Amino acid sequence: MTNLSRRALPEAPKTFGLFIDGLWESAGDRALSTRIAPGYGLPVTRIPLCSVEDVNRAVAAARRVFRAGLWSRCDGASRAAVLRRMAEGIRSAAAELAYWETLESGKPISQSLGEMEGAAQNFDLAAGLALTLHGESANHLGEAMLGLVTRQPVGVVGLITPWNFPMIVLAERLPYILASGNSVVVKPAEITSATTLMLADIAQAAGLPAGVYNVVPGTGREVGQAISAHRDIDMVSFTGSTATGALVLQASTSNFKKVGLELGGKNPQIVFADADLEDAADGVAFAMCFNAGQCCVSGSRLIVEASVADQFLDLLQDRLARVRIGDCLDPESQMGAIATPEHCTKILDYIALGEAEGATLAFGGQRRDAPGWFIEPTILTGTLNGMRVASEEIFGPVLCVMTFRTPKEALQMANDSIYGLAASIWTKDIDKALTLMRGVEAGRTWVNTTIAGGPGQPMGGFKQSGIGREAGMLGVEEYTEVKSVHIAIGKRSPWVR
Ligand code: NDP
Repeated sequence: MTNLSRRALPEAPKTFGLFIDGLWESAGDRALSTRIAPGYGLPVTRIPLCSVEDVNRAVAAARRVFRAGLWSRCDGASRAAVLRRMAEGIRSAAAELAYWETLESGKPISQSLGEMEGAAQNFDLAAGLALTLHGESANHLGEAMLGLVTRQPVGVVGLITPWNFPMIVLAERLPYILASGNSVVVKPAEITSATTLMLADIAQAAGLPAGVYNVVPGTGREVGQAISAHRDIDMVSFTGSTATGALVLQASTSNFKKVGLELGGKNPQIVFADADLEDAADGVAFAMCFNAGQCCVSGSRLIVEASVADQFLDLLQDRLARVRIGDCLDPESQMGAIATPEHCTKILDYIALGEAEGATLAFGGQRRDAPGWFIEPTILTGTLNGMRVASEEIFGPVLCVMTFRTPKEALQMANDSIYGLAASIWTKDIDKALTLMRGVEAGRTWVNTTIAGGPGQPMGGFKQSGIGREAGMLGVEEYTEVKSVHIAIGKRSPWVR
């Protein structure tokens, strides 16, 4: 597990402030929340727990700069230049950002580094979109009328992000929100606030005007609710659990703000007998182990054709036995820790529940005996969609296996869920692939791959997996208001005669 380039653990926890209106404020008399690194069981960061009053000040700053037009009314080229510089800033600081991301989240350092590059790519892409964002014209309304559809920034946006992908979830939203000229108040998850706060310095160095990016760390119950209910926030974007998403949606009715929600998933991996089974086994292993299964698009239900089920499970178990779990700062590690001891217990309880519901524990199922909280990749066979273990989001490296005999049955099983976030289809038969792709109820669908793709593809879910889409041009447009304009040409035909 040792590696020469492995960076040492910090000697003392790093303490952060809050960032409002372009200024750092120290915690003062606010309570501090200490983050224990899930990979090591040691304190690594401290963040202040902000109050409703802090949220109000951040919103006021965001509103002030929005009205002043320093960002909201500046030209797309100027915005693009800042976003590009933010991308460069993230790349320059990638090692440092990834280090703190790994310590707080428990993900392997190689993954954190990859996520920093992914974040930078989103800022680069959004820079291009800031240049190309435009409306429409309607030149077919007759001699006396020209129609325009213009887009303008929605205003002040509240952004509430989860602990599983602190930086990449932020980067799949923030640059697109900024591209059209909005101001933002961000609340990262209490346990993973470091990189969202560190981005403030990068934004400022890139020339983002004070007040456009504000970070108020704190609890969901206080700060998250205050943002969701705030009457001077025009739109809220929330990523997290479906249950909390419902609270955000309810609170948003205070002023009927626009709402974007990316919520949970119980995502099927559909494997046909004619798939490249080696590739599919590798993909299914990756999709259940990526981020230790704490991933909204995690492939948590395997729906495999009965005729190859045994062969496929052998291939899968062979791969899972070789996944390198542990020491998150070791560049060779592939799978990291579970975010909190409570969440670790919740996952182990789900595994026990699965057995109590009649499933068979076919692989893994144990907590690793190490400092920190690690759980082995786990396979439960003989599951049915009706079982809690196969229908609820476990958010851990637990795969529920069920078998099918016909494509129709596979599709029915895949869609038998309250969720509709993601799905993967493994087959070499193009007709089957396209039919399943069309029929599956999922906002993101992969064919012969999984959890892959560059920035810019829209993200979001069907059914109870969310509302709206993030990233790419669709993501930019979500954060705009559309104005329908009619302009009369020539002398008015009188109404009063
Ligand atoms: P939450 O959905 O509660 O947390 C996501 C974000 O919402 C965090 O920033 C959290 O703040 C904030 N939040 C919490 N309560 C409120 C509220 N009342 N109003 C507004 N914002 C709030 O997820 P948990 O961390 O509790 O995780 C629970 C489960 O949610 C996981 O086990 C997993 O199943 C699912 N989940 C799904 C995610 C996804 O990407 N789909 C991401 C994260 C979790 P804070 O944590 O600081 O209190």
